[in-house]
Amino acid sequence: MAEKRDYYEVLGVNKNATDEELKKAYRKLAKKYHPDANPDNKKEAEAKFKEVNEAYENLSDPQKRQMYDQFGHNGPQGFGGNGGGFYSSSGFDGFNMGDFGDLGDIFSSFFGGGFGNSGRTTSRTKTGPIKGASLRYDIEISFEEAYSGVEKEISFSRQETCETCNGTGAKPGTKATTCSMCGGTGQITQMQTTILGQMQTTRTCPNCHGEGKVIQEPCEICRGKGQIKKPVRIKVKIPEGIDDNQTVVLRGQGAAGIRGGEKGDLFITVHLKNHNIYTRKGSNVYCDVPVTITQATLGAEIEVPMVNGVIERFKIPEGTQTDTKFRIRGKGFRNGNSSTYGDFIFTVIVKTPKRLTKEQRDLLEKLAITMNEQPPIRKKGIFG
Ligand SMILES: [Zn+2]
Ligand SMILES: [Zn+2]
Repeated sequence: MAEKRDYYEVLGVNKNATDEELKKAYRKLAKKYHPDANPDNKKEAEAKFKEVNEAYENLSDPQKRQMYDQFGHNGPQGFGGNGGGFYSSSGFDGFNMGDFGDLGDIFSSFFGGGFGNSGRTTSRTKTGPIKGASLRYDIEISFEEAYSGVEKEISFSRQETCETCNGTGAKPGTKATTCSMCGGTGQITQMQTTILGQMQTTRTCPNCHGEGKVIQEPCEICRGKGQIKKPVRIKVKIPEGIDDNQTVVLRGQGAAGIRGGEKGDLFITVHLKNHNIYTRKGSNVYCDVPVTITQATLGAEIEVPMVNGVIERFKIPEGTQTDTKFRIRGKGFRNGNSSTYGDFIFTVIVKTPKRLTKEQRDLLEKLAITMNEQPPIRKKGIFG
């Protein structure tokens, strides 16, 4: 398969392009590559036209753009509910289904059908297919899980097509019949003669409520709705490096569509638990590392624990002051979908001993005699 081109590259704009710039670039290219405008090389133009449209569709939608910026083409959009290997049970530590309480709360917000701007679902007609509702789920993961990426299993309920009636709502063996009042259009148009002449009024058919069909014998399982709420469990791949409040989108894991419409999407917003020794800013990890006065004075090789549990040995130079920051490159979080990583930045905190052995006290007293002058008090400069 050919490598997919970067959406920004396709539109010829930079990553910080405003909506206006995107629109402008899109209009220009759509005109240029419109198949009708290229009768001599229609095929190539059509391919380009499609590429431009796809790029614009993804970048003009703020949420899709954010996802693309974070994860690129291989982002979580592509993650199905049937991912590959499953993490060992230890990967699920601290994930308590009970935290979510009543399942109804999970779907705190429903996006209307048809997230995005495809235009298919904005039509008012009630008889065409409608995309299922998109659902939202909030999940909390640990600092370490965000660092390495994790696969989680989540459970919730969603509207699914009723298997008994195949979504028709009609009892098996029976069929919905075309509404006799509106002839299947779902609308009633009447002509009225007024003093101004003939007036046409259109309203929703009261017999079928705009459906165009009437179910004589409703399916007993779904009571004629064609859908039924079912509990589901799906696996979600949370990508390495994900940050607080970022969202993983599982296409087609939302509610079932109506009248053959496509399924809605599932938006999983990730929340990171605080860690007791690490903090994060962007893709960098921050941590305080205590050292003794002798380590700081003489220099030392110290052990610094990385987020993934590996111990890095790091040499601090002699004469290291408290609050000095050191950087271990590439040991922070992964930067979105790129192959680069942030840094691990630690601050050395010099700990003054509170208790000394007799021997230590003797040694320090000897040392004190050699350095018994207090250093001068100076005004603090910008650099302390
Ligand atoms: Zn049914
Ligand atoms: Zn009708």
